[in-house]
Amino acid sequence: TQAHLDAMAKARVLNAYIRETPDRALAMAEASDRKIASGEGRPLEGIPLGIKDLFCTHGVTTTAGSKILETFEPHYESAVSANLWRDGAVMLGKLNLDEFAMGSSNETSAYGNVVSPWRRKGSDTQIVPGGSSGGSAAAVAARLCLGATATDTGGSIRQPAAFTGTVGIKPTYGRCSRWGTVAFASSLDQAGPIARTVRDCAILLGSMAGPDPRDTTCTDLAVPDFEAAVSRGVKGLTIGIPKEYRVDGMPAEIQKLWDEGAAWLKAAGATIREISLPHTAYALPAYYIVAPAEASSNLARYDGVRYGLRVPGKDIAGMYENTRAAGFGREVKRRIMIGTYVLSAGYYDAYYVRAQKIRTLIKRDFEAAYAAGVDAILTPATPSAAFGIGEKASADPVEMYLNDVFTVTVNMAGLPGIAVPAGLDGQGLPLGLQLIGRPFDEETLFAVAQVIE
Ligand code: GLN
Repeated sequence: TQAHLDAMAKARVLNAYIRETPDRALAMAEASDRKIASGEGRPLEGIPLGIKDLFCTHGVTTTAGSKILETFEPHYESAVSANLWRDGAVMLGKLNLDEFAMGSSNETSAYGNVVSPWRRKGSDTQIVPGGSSGGSAAAVAARLCLGATATDTGGSIRQPAAFTGTVGIKPTYGRCSRWGTVAFASSLDQAGPIARTVRDCAILLGSMAGPDPRDTTCTDLAVPDFEAAVSRGVKGLTIGIPKEYRVDGMPAEIQKLWDEGAAWLKAAGATIREISLPHTAYALPAYYIVAPAEASSNLARYDGVRYGLRVPGKDIAGMYENTRAAGFGREVKRRIMIGTYVLSAGYYDAYYVRAQKIRTLIKRDFEAAYAAGVDAILTPATPSAAFGIGEKASADPVEMYLNDVFTVTVNMAGLPGIAVPAGLDGQGLPLGLQLIGRPFDEETLFAVAQVIE
């Protein structure tokens, strides 16, 4: 813990942590020492972790990367972080993220962007760590924690993991409790870990997951022994390669890596099969209707009364307006406007209902592939390697949204997905592959990812 606190102090230029909690970390580490000394060590005893600042932590500010929650100090602990402390883990601090987890580069945080520890060969251009869990990914990659919690609504665990050469898994919707995690789009949000190895992810997810009556969408299924699944191998498994993921303009090196990934799995005993997921192209536009719709509803609670910031106005409506105008950043306001529009009476059927129908078709595409005997699906994690800070934060937000083309399908269908580092591009930046699994079959994903790692 002390070594990590020292490393954090030396790496503040990365801006990975919004808040460091050294006193709490050392107290937790000392408690762990006592447990170990008395022979009562728990599964994660003394393991120092970073917590994405979207998970409520009792008595420690939880900002969601937003100014509107700058002073919000929860008097409760999120289910996921509570599970980690139950198992003996140590909290180093709260990790930076895109505001309310809306973004793909960690450039929308009210607390400044996160800098990836990676650089292009022979260049000192600062690189984004991806987002929204950019602080989590950068901290793991820079050795500022042994593992981190993260959340994924449309790719926010897998894309930053791919951009930083780390491993990240978004489990099946319902595997982890959402209780005490700041909501973005409730039907898509899932917590999961980012860590250095597949095995570390398996161990962390085993602790984070589990039934919770406080989240009615959380499964009652017992948590499997994920760590044991890591070394199962891929013999006898059928891996699907979806042809619709071969998108226009994808760099040749990503196509090459994808082919190599399939070849490695084949060499290890898997059968490779070309498959079709015909509604793939509609996933991104449908996601950017469903996610803002749910966000506009979830974010209605930040009214200047119940949480954090309040900016006075001439009457109560004026107070609401002033608080939300000052408290939310540009991207969050854009999502609230889009969401309110697609849910409005005149447009509800044309946008929201249609997007929900597309969501069902996407889910059925996957169900058909799995029913035909596919055990897991291999795709690239992202359509490019990480980009430079400012390079895509342009006037056109769609440029940024296109980053999520390979990851949003998984959230729309509620499936588990893992990103695993698979190589470097010509400029020396990491590239990741994604594996998509059957519902509640994270074990197969760990086994297949381990072969690629
Ligand atoms: N980049 C996507 C978005 O901005 C996904 C974010 C996420 O998964 N939290 O909505």
